[in-house]
Amino acid sequence: MKSGSAILVLLICLPLALYADSNDTVAIKTFREYPDATAIPGVKKVKNIIMMIGDGMGFNQVTAARMAAFGRGVGLAMDRMEETGQSITLSLDSSLITDSAAGATSLASGIKTLNGRIGEDAGGKRVRTIADLARKRGKSTGVVASCDVTHATPACFASHVKSRANAWEIARQMADEPLDVLLGGGYQYFLPGSHPESARDDELDLIARMRKRGATVTMDPAEFRELEPDKIKTLVGLFSPGHQKPAAQRKVSLKEMTKTALEVLNRNPEGFFLMVEASQIDWAGHANDFKYNVAETLDFDETIAMVLKFVQDDGETLLIVTADHETGGLSINKASEEESSVTGGWTTGSHTANPVPIFAHGPNSHAFGRVLHNHQIPQLAVQGWGVKNFADFAYGK
Ligand SMILES: [Zn+2]
Repeated sequence: MKSGSAILVLLICLPLALYADSNDTVAIKTFREYPDATAIPGVKKVKNIIMMIGDGMGFNQVTAARMAAFGRGVGLAMDRMEETGQSITLSLDSSLITDSAAGATSLASGIKTLNGRIGEDAGGKRVRTIADLARKRGKSTGVVASCDVTHATPACFASHVKSRANAWEIARQMADEPLDVLLGGGYQYFLPGSHPESARDDELDLIARMRKRGATVTMDPAEFRELEPDKIKTLVGLFSPGHQKPAAQRKVSLKEMTKTALEVLNRNPEGFFLMVEASQIDWAGHANDFKYNVAETLDFDETIAMVLKFVQDDGETLLIVTADHETGGLSINKASEEESSVTGGWTTGSHTANPVPIFAHGPNSHAFGRVLHNHQIPQLAVQGWGVKNFADFAYGK
């Protein structure tokens, strides 16, 4: 910008900025109770539930990916799903704005909680998860993530700790948790302290512990690709010491991991629960990196396309695609047909209160085409498994 025009902008914006200062905040009139889900009319029986979480994926992250792929058109896998709703992600934190731990605890256990909590309510009480419920129903369970599996979102489906920072304890609990499939990164937390790649300061060998309970454990992408999923009962694949790389450099793609997870889980005639997280949409949002954000969202959508095909062929699976919160306050500020480009703009490096999309497909998908609170999503989903009150199960009543 030339200095002349900069001064002009300053002159125009200065009074606006002064005006905005005093008008940016409004009082909240009343704090209402957030509602629980009500019974789905004409609820249908569901065999499998797949929950796919785009960490930090708000409506505009989806819009950006769609415009980058199709300009004015549509064509994402998400665009082909039967129902679209929106999720209010607010947590019990005094800031109202959720972190990934509270957000994922809501999606896993159907309750609201404080930021930082993994599988615990605001009073520190452990809550059971939708994966626990699946297991109780004789179903298989799986967790897949494009980060380190001890990170907040995957952790909420297989551990219970007061602070998300406690990766060692999360890993220990995950190793003992009878998940049938666990795929992602983060083997440094599972190796004993004396191992050169370990990040533990104790000698717990969680890899050995998982093998002892019958799991096929691999840390080698080539070995992973040679596995025969129809011969495996329990599969653990951890492909990087810490977090996995961004989509283009990932050793094993989210789609590959998810495909293998489906092959292993779908062998159970009773059905399964699978959670898949596209973890790095959030990191791109924190970094205000639009290119990275779009690449991760499109990578997620490619995985969704594969899962949607499975769901359409299967007919007894409920697929829910949503997010734990929006990150970055993204908006689309500029696009150009001549330059064939789209430009994003950010309002923060943190999470926002912006609602996030819910896409649903399969039996009972109609229940999700509305405004919901995040914790209502699993409450509604498990009704297809015959559970009317998920909170009762979560609290062990
Ligand atoms: Zn998050």
